[in-house]
Amino acid sequence: MKINTRKEIEEVRPYNLGKSPEDIKNEYGLQVIQKMSDNENVYGCTTDVEKELTHSIKQLHSYPDGITTVLTENLASFYQLNQNQFLIGNGSEEIIRLLTRGYISSGDEVIIADPTFPRYEANAIIEGGILVKVPLRDGKHDLRAMVEAISIRTKMIFVCNPNNPTGTIVGKDELFQFIKTIPNHIIVVIDEAYFEYVMTDDYLKTHTLLDRFANLVILRTFSKVYGLAALRVGYGMMSPDFVQQLMKVKDVFNVNQLAQNAARVALNDQHFVKECAKKNQLEREFVTRKLIEMDYKVYPSETNFLYACSEHPVAEKLQKKGMLVRAFSQPNGGEAIRVTLGTREENIAFLHVIGMLKKERVV
Ligand SMILES: *Cc1c(COP(=O)(O)O)cnc(C)c1O
Repeated sequence: MKINTRKEIEEVRPYNLGKSPEDIKNEYGLQVIQKMSDNENVYGCTTDVEKELTHSIKQLHSYPDGITTVLTENLASFYQLNQNQFLIGNGSEEIIRLLTRGYISSGDEVIIADPTFPRYEANAIIEGGILVKVPLRDGKHDLRAMVEAISIRTKMIFVCNPNNPTGTIVGKDELFQFIKTIPNHIIVVIDEAYFEYVMTDDYLKTHTLLDRFANLVILRTFSKVYGLAALRVGYGMMSPDFVQQLMKVKDVFNVNQLAQNAARVALNDQHFVKECAKKNQLEREFVTRKLIEMDYKVYPSETNFLYACSEHPVAEKLQKKGMLVRAFSQPNGGEAIRVTLGTREENIAFLHVIGMLKKERVV
């Protein structure tokens, strides 16, 4: 007999992890795989982290610090905010879950863009929330339409800025107007997982607005430019009241000590962060230009990935050649790929494969 889950769970789509590099190697008899599918930092992480971890490993018998004291102190001084405005999570994904767990009741509406990061939807559904999806416009959040989507039942709005999977941002003034417009009983969550990769000046410094807007939550992570995806550390910046409430919801020892220590060390090497972002920007311009030359429609990206659309599906053909990207089907029947930028060498290899497929007229 099948044991039924709560009815909410039946509607949750499991996160699509895709095939593993090992599976693909075996399936197509490939020697090497170039993983360009998960937006990880190709340059790894600062070397100081390794030293810290060899040191931390001697403390495996101790529980971690349940209130992440030292990392929180470091973040507070980095941003010039108060320590009581931070909540550290087992990845920023955990903060998303804590927010929906803590604040979404059955029937509450949650407004998100479409497409956007899939975890907002899954976590809202688990709590019985009702998703209100607002299509992107030119690959960007349509903030005006999101405001219009507000109803008496709206409880939370997610703005993924830059947006995953399209890599786009919404402009500074537009976002500021949006934040001002949202009634203060609705939680505005701004997910800035790719914050450090943003190069344009037209980008709102949301963390400076926390004192003004008590309904604002900002999410950032050590998984992307800091290169610590394996360790699982992310954080939310928010009003002290949110932090106090979510502390009741979170697991006591949610962030392991190795991760806390490594994140502190990584935060303190901003030189590494800036270097990665600078190299990424060069690659971003290079690959964008080349893809456009090959007739792809590429959204302007402020991240370490590109979203490229074409009429002909290409993701699976790339996979057969050992290039792993994410595929998204398009409303018009075409396909978009989300490709994480690599090193110059990797990007040239990727572009070469696409070029070959084009020449063979298979894409
Ligand atoms: C990668 C990503 C996250 C999750 O990051 P973790 O801190 O690893 O959980 C959150 N939001 C967006 C938009 C992402 O792309």
